[in-house]
Amino acid sequence: MTPYLFLDRDATLIRDTVYPRDPAAVELLPGAADAVGDLARRGFTVAVVSNQSGVARGFITPDEAAAVDARFVELFAVASGVTLACWYCFHGPADGCDCRKPKPGLLLQAARHFGQPIGPRSVTVGDKPSDLDAGRAAGCGLTVLFEGDWPAVHARIRERLA
Ligand SMILES: [Mg+2]
Ligand SMILES: [Zn+2]
Repeated sequence: MTPYLFLDRDATLIRDTVYPRDPAAVELLPGAADAVGDLARRGFTVAVVSNQSGVARGFITPDEAAAVDARFVELFAVASGVTLACWYCFHGPADGCDCRKPKPGLLLQAARHFGQPIGPRSVTVGDKPSDLDAGRAAGCGLTVLFEGDWPAVHARIRERLA
């Protein structure tokens, strides 16, 4: 069973612009592509799981969200060699959905897509406690708070694998 690497997007893989709606503003954070590319080549199944409540709040249109996603996936693929699969929650906090983190729904959707359960060697990385809560609720054995240092996150996950 291959472990999953679940990744938050905004302020974890790309610079946070708050309700991102402009594809031209997408900028990868330093070290993210190298770290994720290496972990993917070491056997992690990588899935991006991201709350985008700007859609429910009316700050972002679905088309804008799709354009930002496309630009992000393209930039990340060029930089890392990995074509990311992404799951988004477009609901707002009042919608009562089961996919908005800290709920684990997005991670479970990804696991259904890949057809494998989320084993204890799976990892979640994000910049907010709600990212890590979602990872724990989904069954990840390691959750790592991203504090701006991708080489440190990478080392922590490599150590866990050893
Ligand atoms: Mg974030
Ligand atoms: Zn949702």
